[in-house]
Formats: sequence, C-alpha cells, structure tokens
Amino acid sequence: MILTADPSSSYRAYASEIDQAIQSVLASGWYILGDNVAEFEREFAGWCGSAFGIGVASGTDSICLALRALGAGPGKEVITVSHTAVATVAAIEAVGATPVLADVDADTYTMDAESAKALVSEQTCAIMPVHLYGHPADMKALGELSRINGIALVEDCAQAHGAMLDGNRVGSFGDVGCFSLYPTKNLGAIGDGGIVVSAAPELAEALKLIRQYGWDTPQHSIRPGVCSRLDEIQAAILRVKLKHLDDEIRRRQEIAGIYDAAFAKLDIKCPLVRENAEHAYHLYVVQLAARDAVKVALAERGVVAGIHYPIPVHAQPTYIGRVRSASMTVTEQIQSRILSLPLYPQMSETDVDTVIDAVRTCVN
Ligand SMILES: *Cc1c(COP(=O)(O)O)cnc(C)c1O
Repeated sequence: MILTADPSSSYRAYASEIDQAIQSVLASGWYILGDNVAEFEREFAGWCGSAFGIGVASGTDSICLALRALGAGPGKEVITVSHTAVATVAAIEAVGATPVLADVDADTYTMDAESAKALVSEQTCAIMPVHLYGHPADMKALGELSRINGIALVEDCAQAHGAMLDGNRVGSFGDVGCFSLYPTKNLGAIGDGGIVVSAAPELAEALKLIRQYGWDTPQHSIRPGVCSRLDEIQAAILRVKLKHLDDEIRRRQEIAGIYDAAFAKLDIKCPLVRENAEHAYHLYVVQLAARDAVKVALAERGVVAGIHYPIPVHAQPTYIGRVRSASMTVTEQIQSRILSLPLYPQMSETDVDTVIDAVRTCVN
C-alpha cells in the first residue's frame, strides 16, 4: 500500500542518527529549552533566511503566539483563506480575534489578493496567507496590501518549508513566518512541534516571553503568556532531519516532475508553478472529474490518495453562517475535484511507477 505521506519512512531513513540524538538528550538530563532547541532555532531561522527562530509546541500554536505578539485579540480581525486546514482559522479564534475568509487563486490554491483586499476593515490587524500544498502565495500583492493598510503580514508556512519566491524562502516575507513540525510536514518531528521565524528582534523577544508565562527570567513574568515549548528531544530529531531537508525537497520536486510528465496527456489538472516560484510539494494535488470514484479505484490498487480539504472552513458545521467571508467561487468550484496523490521523499521508483500506472488506469 502506498500512503499519501509516510512519516515512518523518514524515521527509517535516518534511524541511527535519530536514535543517537534521542539517546544523547536522555543522557543529558536537560529536557526543556536547552541547547538542542536553541541550536535548532538558530539553524532553521538561518535556513529560511530569517534572523530569529522561536520553537513552540505545534504549528497551531506558532500562529496563536505570532498573532498574540502582533497584538491580535478580541475586536480585531485577521484575514485568511477558507481553503486551508481548519487549524489556520482555529488559531485566530483561539486568541479571541475574528477570522475573515478570502477566496483562493484557481491555479495556485493560495489567497486571492483581490478577494482579500475587499475584506479589509477598520478592525483588520493582520492578513495571513497560507502557502498551501507548498506553493508560495502571491507575497508581492499581499505585502503591498499589508503595507498600504498598515496591517501585519503573517505567513502560514505549515505546508511550505523550503518553498521559494524570487529566490527567497517563505517565512522571510512577512512580519512572522509560522511553521508546523507535525510528523507528515516537509520537516516533521516525531510528535508535535512548531516554530515561528521573524526578522524583527522585538517580535522574537515577545514570542520568547509569551511561550513561557511571560518569563524574562525564571519565575518572573513581565507579560501574560502561555506554556508552548518545543521539546529538547524533538529539537534534537529535527536537527538531524534539517540536514537532509534540501535533499528531501529536491526529491519531492523530482517526483512531481515525473508525475507532471506522466499525466500530461490525461484529463487531469496538475499543479501549476508560477514563474518566479519554487514549489516545495508538501502535497501533489491534481484536479479531475469523478474524483470520489477515482479515489476508490486507486485505493483498490493500493494507492491511498487524500483530500486536502474535504470541506472548506466557511462550510464547516461550527463556522457556517458565523464567519464573514468573500464570495467563494474558486474554493467551491475545486472542492469536488481536488485529489492529493502520494508524494514523499522516501518513495521508491517502483512506488512512483505504481502510482502512475494506477492513475492511468483509473482516469479516463
Ligand atoms: C498542519 C497545518 C497547521 C497546523 O499545524 P499543527 O502542527 O498540526 O498544529 C496549520 N496550517 C496549515 C496550513 C497546516 O497544514
């Protein structure tokens, strides 16, 4: 069976290095906010082309803490997209702010800048595009929108470690870049984790305070905070995996290229990549007719495809009729057509061929 993503294959690829990293944390006796977290923060921020990294407990928390540091809260609105993981929107509500949802671009599945522009109000404090599937959002137009209106720009980079725009990695465009380190993401821990990157020292400082009760020194709180730390064990594992991340992203791109060529003559819309962009292929999402039937037929051939996401946020039971939204023309149009095919760096040539053969058989 070929899964959509397979985090255990990533552990097996580096098992001896990872086991050793875990053992050394166990033996050190230092399990919270030690050298591994500090080094991982420095290494990952540098890898993104940003100055500061602040490790936190999850990707959702990376957004929550970033929004808090930027002053979001009750009475403030944050503009994001409906076509995303519910986590993006849940994080906005978790800090007491109000989510406002924009439509996406039909080719890149990321925030439509025109749609977002029409949602800006007196209450807007931040705009949060999502680099969905690994394709960077239109940061030029969205950066302009944030500048003109004097509102913060937050990047949801949970699916886009390594995605680039004009040669710069995502996370380096906004006031803050928020990353998930969930096991299936491009850089995945063996458990939960997240990290915020920022070029602004005052935001980095605020984030460090917020993640641990507002402590500037132990047991001394100078602002309200929470408990949201990245574990030493996870940071040690992530440092091993970060060394291999460039190779893994190249392999993702290579597999995507093989799929693109193999499906060129089929009635499938393959992922498009904007000219100035580099896709990090967290997911390889195609559009096709009779999606549900194709998904079942693929599963019968041992190919497990996914749907990201089956219900857009504005249509989820808890959000329906409750969140201010733009017209969702594209979001609704693609909903019954999107399908995520298996793609992860440890896929063998045989796995890739199996997926291709199955897709060719099932799509007509
Ligand atoms: C995974 C994900 C998140 C949340 O990350 P967690 O680590 O699961 O909390 C947020 N936004 C997007 C787009 C994601 O894919």
